[in-house]
Amino acid sequence: MKKISVIGSGFSGMSAAAFLAQAGHKVSVYEKNHTTGGRARAFQEQGFTFDMGPSWYWMPDVFEKFFGSFGKHPSDYYNLVQLDPGFQIIFGKDDVLPIPASLDGIYQVFESIEKGSADKLKKFMAEGEYKYNTGMKQLVYKPAFSWLEFMNLDIIKGVAKLDVFQSVSSHVRSHFKDERLVALMEFPVLFLGAMAKQIPALYSLMNYAALSMGTWYPMGGMMKIGEGMQSLAESMGVEFFTSSEINKIQVNGSTASGLLTASGTVSTDGIIATGDYHHMDQVLLDATHRNYNEQYWEGKTFAPSCLIFYLGVSKKIKKLIHHNLFFDTSLDVHAREIYESPQWPSQPLFYVCCPSKTDPSVAPEGMENLFLLVPIAPGLQDTEQLRQKYYNIIMKRIEYLCDDSILPYVVYNKSYCIKDFVADYHAYKGNAYGLANTLRQTAVLKPSLRNKKVTNLFYAGQLTVPGPGVPPALISGQVAAEQLLKSLK
Ligand SMILES: Cc1cc2nc3c(=O)[nH]c(=O)nc-3n(C[C@H](O)[C@H](O)[C@H](O)COP(=O)(O)OP(=O)(O)OC[C@H]3O[C@@H](n4cnc5c(N)ncnc54)[C@H](O)[C@@H]3O)c2cc1C
Repeated sequence: MKKISVIGSGFSGMSAAAFLAQAGHKVSVYEKNHTTGGRARAFQEQGFTFDMGPSWYWMPDVFEKFFGSFGKHPSDYYNLVQLDPGFQIIFGKDDVLPIPASLDGIYQVFESIEKGSADKLKKFMAEGEYKYNTGMKQLVYKPAFSWLEFMNLDIIKGVAKLDVFQSVSSHVRSHFKDERLVALMEFPVLFLGAMAKQIPALYSLMNYAALSMGTWYPMGGMMKIGEGMQSLAESMGVEFFTSSEINKIQVNGSTASGLLTASGTVSTDGIIATGDYHHMDQVLLDATHRNYNEQYWEGKTFAPSCLIFYLGVSKKIKKLIHHNLFFDTSLDVHAREIYESPQWPSQPLFYVCCPSKTDPSVAPEGMENLFLLVPIAPGLQDTEQLRQKYYNIIMKRIEYLCDDSILPYVVYNKSYCIKDFVADYHAYKGNAYGLANTLRQTAVLKPSLRNKKVTNLFYAGQLTVPGPGVPPALISGQVAAEQLLKSLK
């Protein structure tokens, strides 16, 4: 039995800890914050329960596979419900597109907007299913140390069908003309941290995930997933230490031997570092043991950061559903202000989650729990005045588009932005979702899962393979744990 340390208690850290404990090791998880869950923590105020980060539960099969590895099922830990409609896109006051849960319903919506588009969507989804099955079963569970890992017969035979060299945007536009359908089909890849123009069409597997596999919600909130994973890990003997920041990884020769905390050094036989990769590599290690330098990180395309408001509202808002995308201004202009000339958006697009539509436990009776999110470029100036300015802009837009008075009913309001991501997670430039999954930052081209100079140190999480998002974080922890186990043998 080896003594293994996991730095960080987000999804990747909890996943790694569970697999390492299952292999019979003594695992300790060190978390700098006072609660576990990482970016998916929650907090309670005035009778509201706010999920701080993720709100979309997609790819339920990945969660089933994770819990299934331990003879469990998600329903052993939380009650999952499918949302119907899955989400809605608000293009204007009288131009709202709800997306039904069933594929047949979605085909009807497409056909009503653009003649012939239902058949095109069927073809698009069949390709998406192939990509999903190949991508999620054969590609993402690889450590991506070498391209040779991807050279199996199925992948070579199907490489043309995997569509690695055209963008999601051109793939979508070759099928659909109506700008609303284009926006709907391009939206799911925003989760990968870049615009559809920059993302290989392999990732239209996200459309299959979003439209065919459904949008789900764990009753009680997304933090129920983390609670379930922690309880599973603890049942196998994993110990969690919160308010326990790791300040240094100590290395002897080419072996990590200890972790420095405020209360002293803990010895270790192996480490999985799941906090933000840049911080783990550049700050916790001496220069001689780092995988990369600052120049390397400067050259990377980061996924956006965001400005968030957690609001308690003392009335019901009729026109909102659980997931609402406000796409009433130009996606292209907003994208340029994130990626090409980083600046605060001139006409922000934003997203509103209203979980109290599904879950009475997250708000007092008769009230709404709102989570407002505006994606912004990482590294922007973040001041109280700017946050207030955008609060006013967004709230006025919501009031107008929902035809409802909301501002006077806000009884709780907390903002969260770049400075908070840096303070809470040591996030490089205050990024929210890690690295973008562009072609030049896919698989072997991502920051490596292993430290090339320290044999028993591996990285996991949204800045390494397979990429940003909750399902990838679960997979990343598993793959890193498997590699550490191999190295210990
Ligand atoms: C606002 C927001 C909305 C999102 N929405 C979605 C969504 O709807 N669906 C989806 O699938 N994904 C979503 N994501 C992405 C998803 O939440 C993340 O990709 C995932 O949770 C990342 O998990 P992780 O384990 O890689 O990192 P983290 O959750 O960041 O965990 C890393 C942990 O390491 C800790 N740590 C850092 N440094 C140290 C140190 N020195 N010592 C000890 N501990 C340390 C941090 O405190 C943190 O708890 C969202 C993310 C954000 C921020």
